[in-house]
Amino acid sequence: MSNTPILLDGKALSKEIEESLKKRVTNIIRQTGVVPVLATVLVGNDPSSEVYVKMKGNACERVGMKSLRIHLPEETTTGQLLAEIDKLNDDDSVCGILLQHPVPGHINERECFDRIAVHKDVDGVTCTGFGRIAMGEPAFGSATPEGIMKLIRHYDLPVAGKHAVVVGRSPILGKPVAMMLLNENATVTICHSKTQKLPELVKGADIVVGAVGKPEFIKADWIRDNAIVIDAGYHAGGIGDVEISKVKDRAMAYTPVPGGVGPMTIATLIMQTVESAEILLNSKALYPLEVDNETKEVEEVSALL
Ligand code: NAP
Repeated sequence: MSNTPILLDGKALSKEIEESLKKRVTNIIRQTGVVPVLATVLVGNDPSSEVYVKMKGNACERVGMKSLRIHLPEETTTGQLLAEIDKLNDDDSVCGILLQHPVPGHINERECFDRIAVHKDVDGVTCTGFGRIAMGEPAFGSATPEGIMKLIRHYDLPVAGKHAVVVGRSPILGKPVAMMLLNENATVTICHSKTQKLPELVKGADIVVGAVGKPEFIKADWIRDNAIVIDAGYHAGGIGDVEISKVKDRAMAYTPVPGGVGPMTIATLIMQTVESAEILLNSKALYPLEVDNETKEVEEVSALL
């Protein structure tokens, strides 16, 4: 039998984080006279994306920052979106840029993500940011994976030497969380739609991360007793990617859905925006914003993060 399972309470931790961020924002404003801005960019009219962007903008305002909400029409082209991102990169008052995923299918999302200046990439979506995180170098981590790692650290859960199985390999979730777990010395298996014998692989996991995007796809009987179960999924009716209700009583720890990973994603985004603001607005030498060369940009971030 396992000990009493630990509920990884993302809602409570995110509230604590917000409280501490309010003080940091007040300090920034006092020292610089500038209210930091998070720019959120939404393209099209996907109702879920509209809700997510609204929640992020509201969280930003709750801690005393401003949100600059840019809503572009569905027919926006890649070129127009790139131009919008360029403007935000060049705007000294903007500390962070969030481009809500997914953008409409005709837009080259990867090109647009990578146009975000890495020092303003508070949602951790650029290839440069991902690469730096993977190499253990300073950068803003992808918000959901970084939120998961904050939860794991907050509850002091064992990671080093453990076998983590991540189901999903998306650029914003599966891949970065796998790299972060590896950096914390887990032995990591990454699974995807072509993986064979998935149940057997999950059965070997001390840590399971559900990042597959299918309701209750990861079955309770795949999960061993005393595992740490992280469910990043969220679907209608408040269920995740894992059969959490059937496994939670015999887990070492688990994230509830809702109230686990979701609030930590937003708290991480806001925290990284505050960190960016502290770096940018307190810096005497404000960024040379005509960054047109990746190497130079990487050097700047390395110096300032
Ligand atoms: P995604 O881009 O659709 O990626 C899903 C991944 O699951 C892909 O790598 C895919 O493999 C893999 N997959 C699909 N079918 C599979 C199967 N039968 N067996 C094994 N792997 C399979 O999704 P995502 O953006 O990473 O999101 C995943 C989940 O997290 C969703 O439920 C989403 O709502 C949630 N999410 C939550 C937050 C939050 O803030 N809480 C943020 C982001 C995402 P291939 O690569 O082979 O296609």
